[in-house]
Amino acid sequence: MKALVTGCAGFIGSHLTESLLFDGHEVVGIDAFIDTYPRTLKLENLERATDFDGFRFLGSDLMTMRLDSFVEECDVVFHLAAEPGVRTSWGARFESYTRNNVLATQRLLETAKAWPDKPLVYASSSSIYGDAERLPTPEAALPRPSSPYGVTKLAAEHLCALYHSSYGVAVVALRYFSAYGPRQRPDMAFNHFCSAALRHEPVTIFGNGEQTRDFTFVADVVAATRSAATSPAARGQVYNVGGGSRVSVNHALELIASLIGEPLEVRYLESRRGDVRDTGADTTRAQEELGFRPSTSLEAGLEAELEWMRNQERRRLHETDRAVAIPGRSPARRLRSELDG
Ligand code: NAD
Repeated sequence: MKALVTGCAGFIGSHLTESLLFDGHEVVGIDAFIDTYPRTLKLENLERATDFDGFRFLGSDLMTMRLDSFVEECDVVFHLAAEPGVRTSWGARFESYTRNNVLATQRLLETAKAWPDKPLVYASSSSIYGDAERLPTPEAALPRPSSPYGVTKLAAEHLCALYHSSYGVAVVALRYFSAYGPRQRPDMAFNHFCSAALRHEPVTIFGNGEQTRDFTFVADVVAATRSAATSPAARGQVYNVGGGSRVSVNHALELIASLIGEPLEVRYLESRRGDVRDTGADTTRAQEELGFRPSTSLEAGLEAELEWMRNQERRRLHETDRAVAIPGRSPARRLRSELDG
């Protein structure tokens, strides 16, 4: 199988790309390296994929590139490219959210309608629910986004439904709930918590920490995404993809503290506009129709994210070391041996 993966240099897209390559599939990956976080991190995300002969990378923008030949040559399209992040989606930046989330999706769907039988999996979000009336929330719940970001993800989801009903495009929309794990975006909560904890710095929380999230390990997100492309029953459907471990942010912090073996200093700030109180996925439909079974516990997933972060830190320190004139005397070297120990 040859897959087109948009957003292949991102957090989830890079894991999906690797998982497909690892199983012997070919991947054509598209990513424009938009400026939401450093390009160097996205390049690192792609490192393993570039070891595979079956990987072809296009550093192009979905809004300006010609898409038809790439959609035509691939058997399936995974559309993960987007501008994520709830808090930054207010104000002037909304224009860019609209461009990367709504207009880019419409452009891809316009192209895909020439090959309607090709499965197209769209990465939607739990943000479309806003403060849901029911927890866990089923797909039939009324979407009421609490942020402009959620509005753009919902608009694109509606476009997917429209291209399915009007042109028969085989679209599947997956509403991911708080993905985490290695390569998590730097703006996301666990990335901030883990990084602060490893540096012995205070952790900042917006709200009292009793807000809950249905955290989903990235490998489980990838498994659901791949089965959405191969399950014929999924065409035209929407599925929640949640990890099944809805816990409070305070509980997640306790887990991180126990994993690193020291208490965390937590500073609570007022919650931000757009933050929802709770999220929880009813995954009955995904279980029945996609065979979705999240298999990573929050503890194991957090340990994997911490380990990735320690490796990142070691790598940076090695790089700093190489640049320091007097070997053996650098603070970087001292810090690294602490980490190694
Ligand atoms: P990410 O920012 O790490 O990855 C998205 C990638 O898309 C980036 O590398 C970016 O450069 C690329 N991109 C954006 N606009 C583009 C364009 N116009 N052309 C080409 N490339 C473009 O984000 P992520 O966390 O990996 O999220 C992936 C998808 O999953 C997104 O659609 C996001 O909305 C959705 N999602 C993520 C989460 C989560 O918890 N991470 C939750 C719900 C939904």
